[in-house]
Amino acid sequence: MQRLARLLFTLVLLLTVGFSGHVFADTFEKNVSQAMQNLNLSKGDAGLLVLTNAPYIKADGANALPWLNQAQEKTGCTVGKGNLLFFQRAQSHPFRLMLFRKTDGQAVIISRVNNNWVTDTVNIGPDTISKAAFWEKTDTYHAGRDMFTLASMANVWAKGGPYDFLKSAELHNHICPGLTSGYLMAHYILDHFPLKDGERYTVVACPVWCKEDAFQVVMDCTPGKKGLVVKPISDDQKKQITVPNPAGMVLVWDAEQKRGRGAALSFSFDPLRALSPKDTPKAAMVLAALDHLDQPDRFVSTSAEFNLDEKRYNAITRAGSNPWAVVGLMETQ
Ligand SMILES: [Zn+2]
Repeated sequence: MQRLARLLFTLVLLLTVGFSGHVFADTFEKNVSQAMQNLNLSKGDAGLLVLTNAPYIKADGANALPWLNQAQEKTGCTVGKGNLLFFQRAQSHPFRLMLFRKTDGQAVIISRVNNNWVTDTVNIGPDTISKAAFWEKTDTYHAGRDMFTLASMANVWAKGGPYDFLKSAELHNHICPGLTSGYLMAHYILDHFPLKDGERYTVVACPVWCKEDAFQVVMDCTPGKKGLVVKPISDDQKKQITVPNPAGMVLVWDAEQKRGRGAALSFSFDPLRALSPKDTPKAAMVLAALDHLDQPDRFVSTSAEFNLDEKRYNAITRAGSNPWAVVGLMETQ
């Protein structure tokens, strides 16, 4: 009898622990449901954005696609509807998924930290991100420095920024004035140097800054396909370039005919800065530029044009050369 009682007791204990463990388990799905409630949004709401690094990172030793799938099921946000966006991060980076309310910038950010779910509830609307004080305390949130990524991308989405701009941001993992300059340059190139049959673009990134990630998305000019040649130069070298605001070159090359043309491009940040009050935080500065993304000529100009033969094309694109010197746009000493 005593043995039976002990057995029963153990059974009840096991059941209780097992049952309560199940009831109180903090699951990802539960966190998403709570976030939806908290934001007072229901599945399929067009004013909801999900922004996550789920396709890129590894969490708890595996990829995070099951969580992404759960988030899609619960929120109704999809890539096709334009309200599911991603941002690239290293595989070792913590998992983040933000639910963002378009009307006022209220957000819940769900993160995976040390095998636990943690959330930040925070307003990152345009008013908040325009204040320098907000950016001084981002370390107090679990999302930490990802706050810049999340806030810059979500606000551009909310303001109806172009989809190819958001796609560029997915690769670059944030939207900054530098990426904006690349986006404007890419569209300037497409407008002013349309390709004829047999031609292709080679963008020469020299000097190098955030802009290079926009060429890869907007123009499919990637380093691996030799569409983007990346050549950093020193500040001293940059000072010797004879055109103002040098930003790089575009080469239009016909590999069959072995001939082409090229242009040196300048980018001026002055008209971009002039769109916002002095010392406006970068995420807000980018928002001010949104209304002008269809006017690349305001910011980008052609500072020199030149013809290309095979020798010159190779001299510009291959290792060991300064492309500005090859086309005669460096001060000679
Ligand atoms: Zn950047």
